[in-house]
Amino acid sequence: MKRIGVIGGGQLAWMMASAAQELGIKLVIQTPDATDVAVSLAEDIVFAAVDDVAATKILATKCDIITFENEFVDLAGLGKLDAVFLPPLAALAPLLDKYTQRCYLRDLGLPVPKFAVLEQPELPSGFEFPVVVKARRNGYDGQGTFMIKAKSALVDLYHRYPDTPFLIEEFVAFDRELAIIAARGASGEVVTYPILETQQEEQVCRRVFTLDDLPESLVETCGSIATKLMISLNAIGVFGIELFATCDGRVLVNEIAPRTHNSGHLTIEACATSQFSQLIRAVAGLPLGSTKLICGGAVMVNLLGYEDSQSDYLAKRQQISSIPDTYIHWYGKESRIGRKLGHVTVLVGNNPSQTSQNSRQQAEVIARQVETIWYE
Ligand code: ADP
Repeated sequence: MKRIGVIGGGQLAWMMASAAQELGIKLVIQTPDATDVAVSLAEDIVFAAVDDVAATKILATKCDIITFENEFVDLAGLGKLDAVFLPPLAALAPLLDKYTQRCYLRDLGLPVPKFAVLEQPELPSGFEFPVVVKARRNGYDGQGTFMIKAKSALVDLYHRYPDTPFLIEEFVAFDRELAIIAARGASGEVVTYPILETQQEEQVCRRVFTLDDLPESLVETCGSIATKLMISLNAIGVFGIELFATCDGRVLVNEIAPRTHNSGHLTIEACATSQFSQLIRAVAGLPLGSTKLICGGAVMVNLLGYEDSQSDYLAKRQQISSIPDTYIHWYGKESRIGRKLGHVTVLVGNNPSQTSQNSRQQAEVIARQVETIWYE
């Protein structure tokens, strides 16, 4: 395989392009914006919106298969094209709408929070406040997810977005949020990465940590959820699976992203094969790589915009780079509040004086150090 088409041209496609280059494969991307970060690394570009099916038809003539960095696509339209999509469109079909995704997971026997369609500005029977209301489609980074504590807020939300179909679900009082990246290759082989802890603030991922204190039973539960899902979907590619670990020892599936995922960014430096390289391998029909951790531990910190600005924040990036074993990935975007402008991965526990017990503690300290420099 020589050329892979990617729908989307943001940071995920950019990181895919570097991984593809190492495997001797070129990327052709479909993106509307010439300033998108992946544009500089792409072999060819179709400038069009990600849901522009006519543009994807052109993309298909320029590559061997098409994959996704972004799921806000017109699935029905893509289904009419004579092109090979990986993951297959049938694997995406149940996932793009948060309600049908929940139904799919439930029907597969996987544990999910209690959920229903929000059909009127009232709590469905069996629910109590607080609840979480989510736009069924096109939500990301907490956009479209609302924590609702009282009837008045529910009524207000319902009337504020009269045309948005919503899902309502129980508020899960989780102990922590976990994520697992899974890959399935063309031969059907499934591999999973080490389970990660993600920390969200205002529904946006801020930090991701490797873990060394998870009970074996929890590791097995998460691994078998991921494997069951990848097999049942007949997925080929890399999926990000977000989970809630509850205080009473249960694991509930929060969300499936049918693509590489923010929670897996630290695999670039911390694992033998990055999630991006794994995606390219899976969709190109190459053998999958090892998912093993190759360091004592790691932390990834998202650099979120905190102002509207055209600054490239060079001085701050240099200051963060002076922390040992730090890797900065800067997406070169204009800053807007809450926008993901880059991320930093720091490897910890490689220094022989650090024991595995304190590598997590050390990761917490480093995450605070990065954020103090960034947000000061
Ligand atoms: P998005 O698709 O925008 O990432 P998510 O459904 O993943 O939205 O929600 C974002 C975050 O909101 C989650 O990581 C979690 O912190 C919080 N959240 C979502 N659903 C629930 C829930 N049912 N109970 C408690 N917190 C939730």
